[in-house]
Amino acid sequence: MKTLKMPGRNLSVIDSADVAVIGGGPSGFSAAIAVAREGSSVYIIEKNGYCGGVAAMGLPIQGFDDVEGNPLVRGIAWELYRRLVEAGGALKELVPCRLHNPYAIIDPHICKLVMEEMLKEAGVRVWNHTTFLHTLREPDAHGEIFVKNLVVGGKGGLYACKAERIIDASGDGDAAADAGAQYTIGRGPDGLTQSATLNFRLSGIDFNTLGAAVHENFSGLFDTHDMINREAIFRSEPHIMVGLRNLISEAKLHSDMDIPCDYISYITGINPGTVCINMVHVHHVSGHTLQGLSTAEALGKAQINLLVQFFREWVPGFSQAYLSDISPHIGIRETRHIMGEYTLTGDDIRSGSFPNDTIALGGYPIDIHHPEKGDVTLERVPPYGIPFRTMVPKRVRNMLVTGRAFSADHIALASSRLMATCMALGQAAGVASHFAAADKSGIEHTYTVETIQNTLESRGAVIRR
Ligand SMILES: Cc1cc2nc3c(=O)[nH]c(=O)nc-3n(C[C@H](O)[C@H](O)[C@H](O)COP(=O)(O)OP(=O)(O)OC[C@H]3O[C@@H](n4cnc5c(N)ncnc54)[C@H](O)[C@@H]3O)c2cc1C
Repeated sequence: MKTLKMPGRNLSVIDSADVAVIGGGPSGFSAAIAVAREGSSVYIIEKNGYCGGVAAMGLPIQGFDDVEGNPLVRGIAWELYRRLVEAGGALKELVPCRLHNPYAIIDPHICKLVMEEMLKEAGVRVWNHTTFLHTLREPDAHGEIFVKNLVVGGKGGLYACKAERIIDASGDGDAAADAGAQYTIGRGPDGLTQSATLNFRLSGIDFNTLGAAVHENFSGLFDTHDMINREAIFRSEPHIMVGLRNLISEAKLHSDMDIPCDYISYITGINPGTVCINMVHVHHVSGHTLQGLSTAEALGKAQINLLVQFFREWVPGFSQAYLSDISPHIGIRETRHIMGEYTLTGDDIRSGSFPNDTIALGGYPIDIHHPEKGDVTLERVPPYGIPFRTMVPKRVRNMLVTGRAFSADHIALASSRLMATCMALGQAAGVASHFAAADKSGIEHTYTVETIQNTLESRGAVIRR
């Protein structure tokens, strides 16, 4: 790649606070609210014109409860859900599911508005349309790194902002990686990541027709996964569809449709006759690079027309379906895993470990959208604890990494990447950053974990079984 030198320049400082949060997705939203409520000043740097990240794409919030309905995540995440219910932006009850654990069906647009309200009420400053670009770092005599200044960009060019503590909630570990934290990508040696998906919504669906077809022939053409709630499909109640593999095989056999997914995957929305389709699959995506993201958007869009045509022609009840929304951007399931003081592993979650420094609980199945095929693997795990050390990047001393890029291997992330879990991590990162900013000592993770845990519990978070 060719390079160009940029002449030195002075940047206007747009903001300064105790804590800067990079990214206003589920984890950054929750982190910033936690910081502000504990009494420190905080701003969010968010590249989009709204906060929400993947929560603004039409998908259900998963990870609140274990499969039996015992709470795994409460606190700020649960408050968001209850506020969404009040605002008419979520179904009143979690939808039970043996395959996906209970989940909350939400409206993505109302979610954006409610998040905005909650951030405002807490006193968080939000910089929309502002992209984090670089850290200006200061290594100390021991080679440890402190980041006090950030370079951000947007309309008008480059700017700077300042903070005592940084929370990287970009999902990709953009700030931690730039600051010099080590990371791995994807599933290890081959670096392949879960596939990326551009979600879209179809409306105008007749669920009664679909329900009747599945009822008549769920052991044949209209097969469904054994663990999903078939009764809900028969009765046109809220549901997640994972199935109709035979129908897809049939369509592939009798048409030239190159359907990117081996099964039908959608989630019913809160509006009648509407579903969010989760079937675009783009493989070999580097979602943390400009080139990778740009290419993935184009490949994702190219699959939508084909899928709409497939639904109209092949799926009972969808003949009148129309495209009512496309997610604002392609959804990236996996990129960098920032290496922390501890890395959560597949073994940890399969054995249901609860380390002493647990600050959030997981328990959603390992959910891997295959890095190379149009298939998904779902493997049940028991409830487990996520240790605080997974958010503490090695070497970078005044930063925590929350949400999707926290320190977890490919398998552990496949269970803990869900929105409710990311919000629980965010709340813990927010509380910890408040204490660290107030303390000024810079060494946050050794002696304050108990204080963080006690504070989280007093704020309604669940951190013990
Ligand atoms: C296609 C898809 C389907 C999914 N389905 C579900 C589901 O059904 N239920 C569920 O619970 N979870 C689901 N997940 C997982 C879950 O949504 C994500 O793992 C979760 O949202 C991660 O939260 P986050 O805050 O870490 O990251 P994100 O939600 O990705 O938010 C990151 C935020 O940071 C911003 N940002 C990123 N980089 C920068 C930067 N450099 N500067 C400024 N801002 C930046 C982004 O704009 C975004 O707002 C799905 C994920 C994908 C991709």
